[in-house]
Order: sequence, then structure tokens, then C-alpha cells
Amino acid sequence: MSEIIIIASEKFSKFNELKFGFSTRLGGISPGQFGMNLSFNVGDERLNVLENRERFFGALKIGLDELAIPRQVQGGVVQRVYTQGGYDSCDGLITDSKGVFLTISTADCLPVFLFDPVTKSIGAVHAGWRGSEMNIVSRAIRMMREEFGTSPADLISYIAPAAGVCCYEVGEDVAKRFSHEFLVRNPKLHLNLKEHAKTLMLNAGVSNENIEVSEYCTICNANLFHSHRRDKEKSGRMMGVIGLVR
Ligand SMILES: [Zn+2]
Repeated sequence: MSEIIIIASEKFSKFNELKFGFSTRLGGISPGQFGMNLSFNVGDERLNVLENRERFFGALKIGLDELAIPRQVQGGVVQRVYTQGGYDSCDGLITDSKGVFLTISTADCLPVFLFDPVTKSIGAVHAGWRGSEMNIVSRAIRMMREEFGTSPADLISYIAPAAGVCCYEVGEDVAKRFSHEFLVRNPKLHLNLKEHAKTLMLNAGVSNENIEVSEYCTICNANLFHSHRRDKEKSGRMMGVIGLVR
């Protein structure tokens, strides 16, 4: 078993009222490639996953009873939440409640985290190509405007490790749903989900210097990250978590 590694956001770490972390595949007790797997839905032992969650969230001093967990369906729904617990059929959560820690579970999909230091509100979004096609990141920002009065110019954002354009091959059927500026032929078609999300944020009024994009690609950094594309049905899941401390 290896040491727990928690990926941090440089921009988020400047705010004492905020907690954030993103897991890797290292530091867990699950056997084989699962390692630090945080999902109950990938064929890993329940007790192992619970222990892994204790370790990861424990290292961040976040209780498992403080988590808000969306049951992600690769959709475009964002929900405002006031309390911890499970939330059906949504891929994004927003809150201004302190002590409610929003989570996103991924292997290659894009996890996007938002923080408004003015209204003290946060968001967490899961954007695979389906969620990206539905502009779920724009929806989350729009909801933060409506619910909390967030001004996008104040938003600070972190795009966490995900499938990079270096490795994220897509078929013509997926490619045709995206503007050519997010596609690279190399020699097959590759989709740049990170750039897509960043562009949605810029278009919504988030300023460039407030957007931090992780350079990590989950597919080619096999030592650090789970990847569904790479490991197929044997892939574990990472989690990212963001919350306002009480
Ligand atoms: Zn890569």
C-alpha cells in the first residue's frame, strides 16, 4: 500500500474558508488496480471502499457524513443542495451551506469545481462528453447567479485531472457534436474537454486568470490515476471534494 496523494488546487488553497482535494489511485487498501478506489459501483468490496473513503476524506478532515454525493448519470442537471446526502440523477451540485462537501466521482470525465469568494458559494460538476455537449458547466454558473447572486467575474475555478487531448480519442459520432476548435486529428480525432470547459467559463464571464486547469491526463498518467478508457470495467474511481468550512 502506498502513501495517500491528494491533488490540490493552487488557487483554492489561498482561501482558508475552503476545503478542496482530488484523490489519486494511490494510498488505498483495495487489491490490484483498484487501490484507492472511492466508488461502490465498480465491483470493488464495499468495506474496502469505505476504508478508502475514511482515509481520503479523513486526510482532509472531512467526515463521510458531511458529503453530498450526486448519483451521476452523464446528464445536464445541476441541483442546489442544503445538506449532505445522496442526490439522484444529477451531475452537478451547488451550495452556499457551510459544512456540506460536494463530491464528484470520475475516472476520465472532467470534474470542474467552482468557488465564489464574494457570496461564499461553491459548485461541483461532472462533465463527460455528454455533459459537455449539454454545457453543464454553463448551467452551473447560471444557477449560481440565480441562486446566490454570483457574479461570474468573481468565480474561481479548477478543472481537475481528466482525459487529456493527448489521449482522448473519440469517434466521428461524438466529434460532430463539438466545434472543430476542440478537436485535434492525431491521427485519429481527439477531443479537448478541458479547453471546452474553459471556453464555456470564459463565455460565461469568468476571467482567464481565475481558471486553473490541471495538466494531468488520467489516461497516460497510469501510476497516478484511474482511467476508464485505459482500464475498462476494471477501473476504479477518483473523487474530488469541495466545501465551505463551518
Ligand atoms: Zn494523455
